[in-house]
Amino acid sequence: MAGQPLTLSLSLSLSLSLSLLISHKLCIGIANPEQPMATSSSYVLFLKSPRSPPSLTTPLSQNQSWFQSRMIKGFKPISTVLSVIKAQTNVRKEDIVIVGAGIAGLATALSLHRLGLRSLVLEQADSLRTSGTSLTLFKNGWRVLDAIGVGNDLRSQFLEIQGMVVKSEDGTEMRSFKFKDEDESQEVRAVERRILLETLANQLPQDAVQFSSKLASIERSENGEILLEFVNGTRLCAKVVIGCDGIRSPIAKWMGFSEPRYVGHCAFRGLGFYPEGQPYEPKVNYIYGRGLRAGYVPVSPTKVYWFICFNRPSPGPKISDQSVLKKQAKELVRNWPSELLSIIDLSPDDTIIRTPLVDRWLWPAISPSASDGKVVLVGDAWHPMTPNLGQGACCALEDAVVLARKLANAIKSEPASVESALRSYGSERWPRIFPLTIRANIVGSALQWENPVVCSVRNNVIIPKIVRLGPLLEHTNFECEPL
Ligand SMILES: Cc1cc2nc3c(=O)[nH]c(=O)nc-3n(C[C@H](O)[C@H](O)[C@H](O)COP(=O)(O)OP(=O)(O)OC[C@H]3O[C@@H](n4cnc5c(N)ncnc54)[C@H](O)[C@@H]3O)c2cc1C
Repeated sequence: MAGQPLTLSLSLSLSLSLSLLISHKLCIGIANPEQPMATSSSYVLFLKSPRSPPSLTTPLSQNQSWFQSRMIKGFKPISTVLSVIKAQTNVRKEDIVIVGAGIAGLATALSLHRLGLRSLVLEQADSLRTSGTSLTLFKNGWRVLDAIGVGNDLRSQFLEIQGMVVKSEDGTEMRSFKFKDEDESQEVRAVERRILLETLANQLPQDAVQFSSKLASIERSENGEILLEFVNGTRLCAKVVIGCDGIRSPIAKWMGFSEPRYVGHCAFRGLGFYPEGQPYEPKVNYIYGRGLRAGYVPVSPTKVYWFICFNRPSPGPKISDQSVLKKQAKELVRNWPSELLSIIDLSPDDTIIRTPLVDRWLWPAISPSASDGKVVLVGDAWHPMTPNLGQGACCALEDAVVLARKLANAIKSEPASVESALRSYGSERWPRIFPLTIRANIVGSALQWENPVVCSVRNNVIIPKIVRLGPLLEHTNFECEPL
C-alpha cells in the first residue's frame, strides 16, 4: 500500500496516537519484560513466559509448542517434565542457517552470497510463497535490490508508478501528486511477491533453499552453537541462526518477544488480471471513506493490485474459501467507484486474501534486542509493522544488506566478533525501525477514522490543502552501496 501518509499531520490524530502509545506500552511491558539471557551450564526450558519460573504442574505434552521454551540461568532442571539438550548425534553442521524463505530470508541469503558466504535457508512450505499478491516498493527497496544485483531484472517486469490520486468514496478527486515532483530520485513500483521471491531465489546456488523444513525447536548448546530441529526430522547445529520466519516468528518468541498486536483493522488484497491489457494510468489510486479505505495500482501491463482496509474489533475467523472473501470485499465497497469493483471482479479467487493487520513496538529497554548470542532476527520476525507506509518489505530488504555486511566483515576478519556484529546490526537498525513502526500505526489509525466530522476535515481541508508528499516520504531515503 504505497504512500498513505497523507494524514500524518492530522492534528486530530494526536490524542489517538497518545492512547495508542499508552496501550502499546502497557501491552508490551507486561508481556515482554526481559532482555534475552546468556547461556549457562544449567539449562531449564520455560513453559510460559520467560519471566515466570517453569510450572511443575504444566505438562510438556508432545503437541505443546516447544517455542514457549528457552534456556535460562539459575533454575534447576526439572527432569520429569523437561527435556534437556539432546545428545548431538546425527546432527548436520552448518555455519549460517536462515529460517524462512520470504523476502527477508532470501534477501539475506543473497546478500551473504554476494559477499562470498554460504548459508542454508530452511522454509516450512513446500515451495516459495505465492500468496500475498503484490507489494509496493519505494526507492529504499530498489536501492537494496540494486545492491544485491536484481534491481534491473525486476524493473523490466513492473511498471514505474508516476504518482498518486486521492479520491473520496463518491469518486471525487481530492488531490493528486507526482512522485518525481516531490523527489527526483523517488522510484515506486508494485511488484508481484511471487516474482520477487523467485528472482531472489534464482540467484542463489542450487540447494541453498531447503523446503518442507518447518522449524520445530531451537536450543543453545554449551559452546554457544545453536541446535535446530525440524518437523521433518532434520537436525542442524549452526554457528549463526538468522530468524526470517515472519510475523509469528517462533524464533522471536524463543528470544522473548511478545506476540504482535492486532491494530483493529484487516486488509483484503487481490490481483486483477487483464489478459488483453489493463486500462489504468501508472498511478496509485486511493479512495478514503469512513472506517474504510481502498486502493489500486497497476503492477504490469496485465495486472492491477487492489486492497481494502476495514475496521473490525477482532480479526475474526479465518476464511479459506476465497470466493467468500471476494464477496465480502465487494460488499464493503459496493457503492464506491465502479473501477474498483471491476478490478475485484477480474481477480481470480485464488489471488484474494484477508489479513489482520498487526505490529509490535520495540520499546527501548523493554523489548528484547534483535540478537541474542548468535541468533538474530530480520524483517517481520523482528519488527512487524502495519503496511500503511508500504515499508515492511522495504525495511526487511534494508535489514538484509546491513546484517550481511556486518556478519561478513566479522567472519572474515575476526570470527570471534560475530556476536558483536549482530549486536551492532540491531543498534544500527533499531532507530530506523522503531519510529517507522509507530508512524505506520498512527497513519493507519488516522486513515481508518470513522468519526464523520474528522473525516470531513480530512477530506476537505487536510488532504486538498495541507498535505505535502515530499516530507512524508523522507523515510524512503536509504543509501546502499553494491555488495
Ligand atoms: C496487507 C499488507 C500489505 C503490505 N504491503 C506492503 C507494501 O506495499 N510494501 C512493503 O514494503 N511491505 C508491505 N507489506 C509488508 C510485507 O509483506 C512484509 O514486511 C514482508 O513480507 C516481510 O517479509 P519476511 O520475509 O520478513 O516475512 P514473510 O514474508 O512472512 O516470510 C516468512 C517466511 O518464514 C517461513 N516460516 C515461518 N515459520 C517457519 C518455521 N517455523 N519454519 C520454517 N519456515 C518458517 C514462512 O513460511 C515464510 O516463507 C504488507 C503487508 C501486509 C499485511
